[in-house]
Amino acid sequence: MGVSQHATATEIKAAYRTRAKELHPDRNQAQDASAQFRLLNKAYEVLSDPTSRASYDTIVLETANDPVTGAHHSKPESIVCSSCGKLSAQPRYAIFFAVKSFLLLTRRSPVQGIFCSACAEKKAYRASAVTWLLGWWGFPWGPIYSAHAIITNMLGGKRPADVNARLAAYQAWYFVAVGKMNLAQAVAMDAAELARLVPSNSAGAELGGTLDQLLRATGASTNRLKNSWRLLSRPFYVQAGSIAVIALGIWLGYENTPASQPPRGPKTYVGNLSATPPTSDLKRRTYVRPATAPNGNPWPTVAGYLPGFPRLNTDGNSTIAVDNGQNDSDVFVKLVSLSSANAYPVRQFFIPAGRSFRLESLRQGTYDIRYQDLSSGSLSRSAELSVTETRTYQGIRYTDLRLTLYKVRNGNMQMYTLSADEF
Ligand SMILES: [Zn+2]
Repeated sequence: MGVSQHATATEIKAAYRTRAKELHPDRNQAQDASAQFRLLNKAYEVLSDPTSRASYDTIVLETANDPVTGAHHSKPESIVCSSCGKLSAQPRYAIFFAVKSFLLLTRRSPVQGIFCSACAEKKAYRASAVTWLLGWWGFPWGPIYSAHAIITNMLGGKRPADVNARLAAYQAWYFVAVGKMNLAQAVAMDAAELARLVPSNSAGAELGGTLDQLLRATGASTNRLKNSWRLLSRPFYVQAGSIAVIALGIWLGYENTPASQPPRGPKTYVGNLSATPPTSDLKRRTYVRPATAPNGNPWPTVAGYLPGFPRLNTDGNSTIAVDNGQNDSDVFVKLVSLSSANAYPVRQFFIPAGRSFRLESLRQGTYDIRYQDLSSGSLSRSAELSVTETRTYQGIRYTDLRLTLYKVRNGNMQMYTLSADEF
């Protein structure tokens, strides 16, 4: 395919596309074009899968300069980190994943090669940083791939055991060849340990044979290399913790999402902030319909504003119609503005049983309706009402709300009970 041994997954894909265009039997009339095309596809199949590419990379390395036979080179070459080029006693083939998502598209790309543990750490951080930033935003695979990639990266990447056992064996032979027997011994033990993770199939058996040969040459030892490939501990826990918190948040979100939004408590009035709460005594007292309205005048006989109270927020064009048509009691109603830090009544009005009343010229903002059933004395409030003015091509569109008060609390709007000091 004409790519270097350190080519990235993207470079391999690009090279494959170029070669495939050249060799495609429809375009290329050469005798062996279709055979070559099949070979190319086979090669791409191996190289596009991270794990089979790892095996391939190792075979290439082993056959290119075999330290046992000394083929191709008079002096054996050590395995060096593909990133920094330094010799390491514990080189490992590692595969990290970076995930990028955009809406319905999630792409996971491998970052792989033979690394020293220090470079592996850097590669892991980079792949994880990309994933943290760009991985989550795809549905449904974004979060799933991202969580998996971050955990895998922080555990030191995917490290195929057979490939790494072969790398370690190779490196041990190198140390034998250059006469560093102590190091060779320790690395051989490392290889033997890695080989224990390899399933005992034919490849595993072959690997076992090589290792036996190696351990006979070096002799077994209790000298062990300090494992520099432990999971990247502290950052691992931070990131794993973050993923756990996100997962918990999503789970709680699903668990606790109510059928409808819960009502916020009524917003208190300025004057009531330090007022004594209603005593239970007050609540138990039998209700007697007040003989007069709060302004001292008798209750009116028609729907309307109660004289003596200020009429506020009158510089808008929105309306709220309050319908008491379904009710057999008169009601005393307050429209309460919730737009500022403290609530305050902007309209106070009376609606006889069976009638309705329209509030006009309302300024935009949030409000609620609080009312007293004058027959029973029960107090209720509505949910928050949003009054908006929207500019359109035709001009300004105003809000026209209609709110029906029912005796039972199931009008066209959910109503909530209210305590006396909130009314
Ligand atoms: Zn390195």
